[in-house]
Amino acid sequence: MTDTMTKPAPINHWLGGKSTPGTSGRSAKVFNPATGEVQGLVDLASRAEVDAAVAAAVQTARSWRTVPLSRRAEIMFRFRALLDARRDDLARILTREHGKVHADALGEIARGIENVDFACGIPNLLKGGYSEGASTGVDVYSIQQPLGVVAGITPFNFPAMVPLWMIANALACGNVFILKPSEKDPSASLFIAELLQQAGLPDGVFTVIHGEKEAVDALLEHPDIAAVSFVGSTPIARYIYQKGTEHGKRVQALGGAKNHMLVLPDADVNMAADAAVSAAYGSAGERCMAISVVLAVGDVGDVLVDAIASRLPSLKVGPGSDAANEMGPLISREHRDRVAGYIGSAADQGATVVVDGRAQAFDGDGFFLGVSLLDHVTPDMDAYRDEIFGPVLCVVRVPTYEAGLKLINDNEFGNGTAIFTRDGGAARQFQFDCQVGMVGINVPIPVPVAYYSFGGWKASLFGDTHMYGPDGVKFYTRAKVVTSRWPDPATSRVDLGFPQNR
Ligand code: NAD
Repeated sequence: MTDTMTKPAPINHWLGGKSTPGTSGRSAKVFNPATGEVQGLVDLASRAEVDAAVAAAVQTARSWRTVPLSRRAEIMFRFRALLDARRDDLARILTREHGKVHADALGEIARGIENVDFACGIPNLLKGGYSEGASTGVDVYSIQQPLGVVAGITPFNFPAMVPLWMIANALACGNVFILKPSEKDPSASLFIAELLQQAGLPDGVFTVIHGEKEAVDALLEHPDIAAVSFVGSTPIARYIYQKGTEHGKRVQALGGAKNHMLVLPDADVNMAADAAVSAAYGSAGERCMAISVVLAVGDVGDVLVDAIASRLPSLKVGPGSDAANEMGPLISREHRDRVAGYIGSAADQGATVVVDGRAQAFDGDGFFLGVSLLDHVTPDMDAYRDEIFGPVLCVVRVPTYEAGLKLINDNEFGNGTAIFTRDGGAARQFQFDCQVGMVGINVPIPVPVAYYSFGGWKASLFGDTHMYGPDGVKFYTRAKVVTSRWPDPATSRVDLGFPQNR
């Protein structure tokens, strides 16, 4: 850092409705990825701090679950209005810590707000069933009750949207929520906490505790946490699922991805090329629904690669705060260097480097990398096997639909996929055949709208329920069935037989 740079700002926990400095004495650097500058120091919680936060949350949970549905819905409506009014401010926070360009940050926020829209309907979503006269004088009904204290652990790549996937439904369902955001870009969660408070959420119902493994382990092992929602990489998702369930918790853990786009020879090549470029390089490829592999079927390969390559020279890469830029930096220097390593390894292993992002020069110390296009990639190459999570698009040439489908279904991940074709029958067959949780037909990033649910298959999700939407409400509530009878002398008698309908 040079002398002209400002001192890193402390980034504290949010406990009991206020910003609260940590006591562990440990913190992590938060960078501005566009400049390489350390701009913040985020507190890292100790186990003791997590335990204290959970103890406070348990107290708050008792009163929050008694707050009427109408009031919870009202708070969600107010929260929605505040988020809407403050989109630009939140987007600037995302750009400053994550690096994504302002327009992309606004897109993330819009998709996050959809989840608040959904949660505004909580009185309707929590309606139970009622069977009058299930037996003589007996009525049966079902109710859904909150779990109590629930936790969310979120990744760096969507610092606003992914927390909103969880928070909106969890709070509206009557739970108290503890968020452990990514320590790489933690400030969006604190901004959200302030808006929730302004919306009328009682203090203590939403907590933000920063940290790394120690804090996460403390949450996973704490007996008073009923459920954990996680989004992040597959090795950590697997760990969270195993440890959380071992400790008796309900867990949904969403992991990594390697999303393939299958382009059939009859596809609209320009549309497919636009889609591939947008979905591969948007947010610098740091999206779990990014397209990282194009499977070019038959003779569409040459023309498609040319069409993709022709779009790349005009892409503007630079600081996200400049509205002219379309792609920002990567999250860290180490990650940028790791991503760049795949371009070299693919070349060594026999791929054709059509566009080499390493060749693009950038001013300053930001974590930038230009876009890369690799052709003739084969399934044995590192660039194909690993989740790169950067602006590198691999093209694999396949002879047939079946060969492409086999690669998709053999992949360890099953988050998203897309087919590009004009043939409705082929698309319909693909939707039936592919072993993937979210499918696009001429749509490259098929993130479901908030009234469906989001989730992959295989190593992209550990757990039974998908995230947000109807599955989110199910995840954050427990069902109870009540069988009731009111005193009626006419039907009362002693009967030691097993209860049956009469
Ligand atoms: P990550 O797994 O490194 O971190 C996610 C969270 O886990 C963070 O809060 C982090 O502090 C915590 N964590 C990290 N290491 C831990 C450990 N050893 N023990 C306990 N907790 C730990 O993921 P990331 O780099 O922040 O995010 C990128 C990854 O997330 C990519 O793999 C991407 O595909 C995935 N992702 C998946 C989805 C999805 O919906 N499936 C969505 C977004 C991101």
